[in-house]
Amino acid sequence: MIFTLTGAHPSRRLPKNYTLIYEIVQASGIGRHLTPAEIYAKALKRRPGIGLATVYRGLERLRALGLVSEVYAQGSGAATYEPSGPRHAHFRCSRCGAIEDVDYAIPARTINALAARHRFAIESERVTFEGRCAACG
Ligand SMILES: [Zn+2]
Ligand SMILES: [Zn+2]
Repeated sequence: MIFTLTGAHPSRRLPKNYTLIYEIVQASGIGRHLTPAEIYAKALKRRPGIGLATVYRGLERLRALGLVSEVYAQGSGAATYEPSGPRHAHFRCSRCGAIEDVDYAIPARTINALAARHRFAIESERVTFEGRCAACG
């Protein structure tokens, strides 16, 4: 899924706490994947008193708006979040748990062929490779 911003930026209509959460995920940059706990820790520094439940609700809203992407990697327990951007795959290190972006997307032709063959309407896909990262060898 490719998200394009049109007209007013959707974050303008968000509650202030949600805007803060969006800024935190956005500031982490492409290729970083923050857990809700990490986002919460950063949010607390900027807005003492913010609740963890608010962080979870904010992430859910931001995800629904297409502003952040949720990354699930099997074995890592929690979902992580990254700013929405071009489609890409992920690599998860089975030793240290690091999650890295991989510049790969299933070709549209393959997705269309699978959709036709199975009569699915495919809306998104997640590709996660596993193995050892460069540091773990
Ligand atoms: Zn590793
Ligand atoms: Zn990513």
